[in-house]
Parts: sequence; structure tokens; C-alpha cells
Amino acid sequence: MSATTGLPPYDDTNIFARILRGEIPSRRVHESEHAVAFHDIAPRTPVHVLVIPRGRYVSLADFTAQATEAEIAGFWRAVGQVARELGLEARGYRALTNMGAEGGQEVPHFHVHLFGGRPLGAMVPATDSGAA
Ligand code: 5GP
Repeated sequence: MSATTGLPPYDDTNIFARILRGEIPSRRVHESEHAVAFHDIAPRTPVHVLVIPRGRYVSLADFTAQATEAEIAGFWRAVGQVARELGLEARGYRALTNMGAEGGQEVPHFHVHLFGGRPLGAMVPATDSGAA
């Protein structure tokens, strides 16, 4: 377990690492020095795109602690640019990142989801069976 991330060390066999290496196909919408974006394989909204850094970062915690200023700036600039290029700005959209077990993170390579194309409803359920 990494002291920085609260998650296991980076796993080079994770699905997004394989997408970055071109071993698994993806429908890419953006490629730049510090970021790649592609359509989610199981879209939850009419537009559902994932933006990932090229670097080996497990999570938001890992990325913000370990990435260089250039990587952080380049990545977040790409998130905004992709949303703009997808035409999401006029109607609005949601950017979301899941971190760790309770955040519901399934793929251990840091990523931001971009959701749009319909009204998105509540940010998270107000109550659920796990609520305190
Ligand atoms: P997480 O739960 O980790 O925040 O989200 C992982 C996302 O990756 C999910 O929305 C899931 O549908 C998506 N995903 C998983 N495997 C693949 C894949 O092979 N290709 C693409 N494009 N998306 C994937």
C-alpha cells in the first residue's frame, strides 16, 4: 500500500495502461502531451468520455501528489478542452473522478469522467443504505 495514495502501487496491466499502449482499442477524441481522452465503453449518459493522464498515476491523490506542474496543468487544460470540443459547454456537463473503494473506483489509473447530453440529476444520492 502506498503511503501517498492509499491504494496499491501502479499496475502496468490495468485496462487504461493497455489502452495507452494501444494494446486495446478505444474511440479516442483527444491526444496531447499529457492527456488522452476516449469514449467510455459503457456510457451512462449520451456523452460519456474518460480523460486520463499519460503518466503512471493510480488516483487523484497520487496524481496531485506526484505529477509535475506541467503534467497537472496539461491534464486539466485537456479536460476543459475536451468538454468544449464535445460541445458540452452550452448545456452544461459534469466532471467526476472516483477515488478508492468508497469512491467506487474500478480502474486504478487516474481518470476524469465527462458526462453530458442530458440533465444529470443529483450529484450523488441524498441517502443510501451506506449513509451514516
Ligand atoms: P471508475 O469506476 O474506475 O471511475 O470508472 C472506470 C470506467 O472505465 C467505467 O465507466 C467503465 O465503463 C470504463 N471502462 C472499463 N473498461 C473499459 C475499456 O476497456 N474501454 C473503455 N473505453 N472504457 C472502459
